[in-house]
Amino acid sequence: MNPSAALDACLSTLGRRPRLLIVDDQPSNIRLLHELFRTDCDVFMATTGEQSIKLCLKQSPDLVILDIVMKGMSGHEVCRQLKADSRTSEIPVIFVTGLNKESDEAYGFEIGAVDFISKPINPVIVKARVRTHLALKLQSDILRSIALRDGLTGVGNRRKFDEDLQAAWWHCKRERESLSLIMLDVDFFKRYNDRYGHHAGDQCLISIAQKIKFGLSRPYDAIARYGGEEFACLLPETDAEGAKLVAEKLLGLVRELAIEHGDSDVAPVVTVSLGVATIVPVVGLDPKVLIEAADQELYRSKRAGRNRASSAVIG
Ligand code: GH3
Ligand code: MG
Ligand code: MG
Repeated sequence: MNPSAALDACLSTLGRRPRLLIVDDQPSNIRLLHELFRTDCDVFMATTGEQSIKLCLKQSPDLVILDIVMKGMSGHEVCRQLKADSRTSEIPVIFVTGLNKESDEAYGFEIGAVDFISKPINPVIVKARVRTHLALKLQSDILRSIALRDGLTGVGNRRKFDEDLQAAWWHCKRERESLSLIMLDVDFFKRYNDRYGHHAGDQCLISIAQKIKFGLSRPYDAIARYGGEEFACLLPETDAEGAKLVAEKLLGLVRELAIEHGDSDVAPVVTVSLGVATIVPVVGLDPKVLIEAADQELYRSKRAGRNRASSAVIG
């Protein structure tokens, strides 16, 4: 597939235009590049290195076109900082520069740039290179999102949960905030499959996953399919009281789906049991303790009769 077609395919899959950041301390250079890309991309602009790093964190561009020689922080330094931060390390960088010594070019590649364009700019060459690297970046985004999604329900999979948990753990540790986890398991689901068939079982899991997904209200709340008929909801910056409220809400939302379950001992409809655990992460503790505690609470809910939530605070 040529880059143009690849880009179009990516755009229809991701449902958005590519985001491009242009960094140059000469406004005339920025204007020139902006003119080249404004019809195909959402273009952001920065005239200093500091500004460009802030924009990368805020806008997550798909590609950065970066001048090397700038007043203050150089393009090389910007590139090094972007590559050293896990939040920005995947953003491809193309250097645009008047320097045309081979050693400068080699150094650019060494610190993580994907390509090099020399000034004065040739519009045809710049466009072609940008298109190629954008297509590669968007393709890798799509692959990544497929690798992290559960094929049946469309929510995050176990790998996504592991990544989210690591990130949330570090964030809450740094901010000295509470992190809560809700483990949720469908009640008498084996009997449901036995009675209504595996296809109906699958449909039931899809409905529950979607209901929970839209029931979680904060932007950093995340749901993942943890195993067969078990889901995990990660709630950063949420204390025990807040998590309990969320758990009660989820309990109600699943009941409201009103999916008939003629073989459940607890209700005429499909219900779930929940285990909630809350911790303020500290040095020396492993995120595993949160999972274990939530699991234990889930087990407690099951033993106490199912269709309910139990909670624990660690530490
Ligand atoms: P409990 O209330 O104690 O949780 O009982 P349960 O029957 O829900 O639990 P158990 O672990 O005994 O059985 C889980 C069932 O979930 C067994 C399995 O067939 C079903 N299941 C797991 N994954 C899927 C899936 O992807 N699709 C369907 N249809 N069923 C699944
Ligand atoms: Mg179950
Ligand atoms: Mg289970």
